[in-house]
Amino acid sequence: MLDKLREECGVFGIFGHPEAANMAYLGLYALQHRGQESAGIAAADGVHVHAWRNMGYVADVFDEAALAPLSGRAAIGHVRYSTAGESRLQNAQPILIDCVHGQIALCHNGNLVNAGELRSSLVAQGSIFQTTSDTEVVLHLYARSRAATAEEAIVESVSQVTGAFSLVVLTKDRLVAARDPHGFRPLVVGRLGEATIVCSETCALDLIGATYVRDVEPGEVLVVSAAGTRSIRPFPPARLHHCIFEHVYFARPDSVVFGLSVDDVRTSLGRQLARETGVEADIVVPVPDSGVCAAMGYAEASGLPFKMGLIRNHYVGRTFIQPQQSIRHFGVKVKLNPVRSILQGRRVVLIDDSIVRGTTSRKIVKMIKAAGAREVHVRISCPPTISPCFYGVDTPRRSELIAATHTLEEIRKYLQADSLAYLSLEGLLSAVDGQRTAYCTSCYTGRYPVEFPRDAEQYLQLALKLESAARG
Ligand code: SF4
Repeated sequence: MLDKLREECGVFGIFGHPEAANMAYLGLYALQHRGQESAGIAAADGVHVHAWRNMGYVADVFDEAALAPLSGRAAIGHVRYSTAGESRLQNAQPILIDCVHGQIALCHNGNLVNAGELRSSLVAQGSIFQTTSDTEVVLHLYARSRAATAEEAIVESVSQVTGAFSLVVLTKDRLVAARDPHGFRPLVVGRLGEATIVCSETCALDLIGATYVRDVEPGEVLVVSAAGTRSIRPFPPARLHHCIFEHVYFARPDSVVFGLSVDDVRTSLGRQLARETGVEADIVVPVPDSGVCAAMGYAEASGLPFKMGLIRNHYVGRTFIQPQQSIRHFGVKVKLNPVRSILQGRRVVLIDDSIVRGTTSRKIVKMIKAAGAREVHVRISCPPTISPCFYGVDTPRRSELIAATHTLEEIRKYLQADSLAYLSLEGLLSAVDGQRTAYCTSCYTGRYPVEFPRDAEQYLQLALKLESAARG
């Protein structure tokens, strides 16, 4: 409902636990912020792999009856918000197939940039696809592999894909985790007694009482079985491109991502924002929840009081249906409500993590002014989003990104804000100092580190040409 970029997915895997599926269920609860359209779990008992998946939140998809058949000491789980492939049940994960190498279930976070090319070639060779998801390509490569063992077939298929992927794979007797050589999306390893866990964020480890061990390294394939854990490196070394937007918005602030506390990074972004874009004002107000950490940093560095001038209703699901055409203007109000006693007569610095289309930000500014604020100064804790993401994040087309098509002053006017400023790219990178060259910032720069599919590139070039022609 709010105008945000969407993370594609969250993944979870566990091996060596008597209640593996229940642990995966809890882990997915902690990762729910990474995808709310579908959820699923596959479990392996040493002989078979069983899976259950459906559309909706984790709490809607699973009850005791759904979890009961998922027996065994290993499980993988997935929450999804679709990017490649439409949002429908066939595309929900884990995807489970049975082939010459035996049963295999797979969960994927990211976007395989060569999936279209591989798919066309596989279809030409006779493969029949059941989904529109790029993830299915890996399973077809696996099924066609002539490798001697299931493990070798997994490694062989994973090493043919490019782009962004953090994968967890389950066979009847092993858990495999793989991360692309650039390390676009996060994937961590944890330990709970004898059990090994791999998951998108450390907040899932915290919930089940597991300890963080390390990250699955970029380019690493980790195979966990009764024989122990083995690390394989099938990819040539590549430059790192961690998604910086994980720190800005996607990840939970209580997670450690790419070795850094998300809360620490987000708070530093707020401090830096205050240093770069300070303004005469009375209070600092976050757009909850995502703007909270940056607003606290901004308040700390500016000396202005931090106030919760907007309250978020946490009980609005994705399935909220606007009751009638005539009362459609409910919009943002259903999710956010201003606190008049805080805002009345005040000059407000409003902190948010991003502006995508600008539609929601405009409504929020209007709402704060209607609650009596004297001035609203919008401050954004990252640079303007000017380019789409091809690495697993759902971004609107470039033409729909307000910062790609409008000047700062045009955006300010559209928002009806008294002033507007973004954090600089240099300021953003200063929050991950020491690792700044290890990050992808393509959605702020339009420069892409990993080649994306020809059709997408052609589309982007055409869009750029049309836009520059329109500007004259
Ligand atoms: S383009 Fe942006 S959202 Fe996509 S991976 Fe790079 S930093 Fe993340």
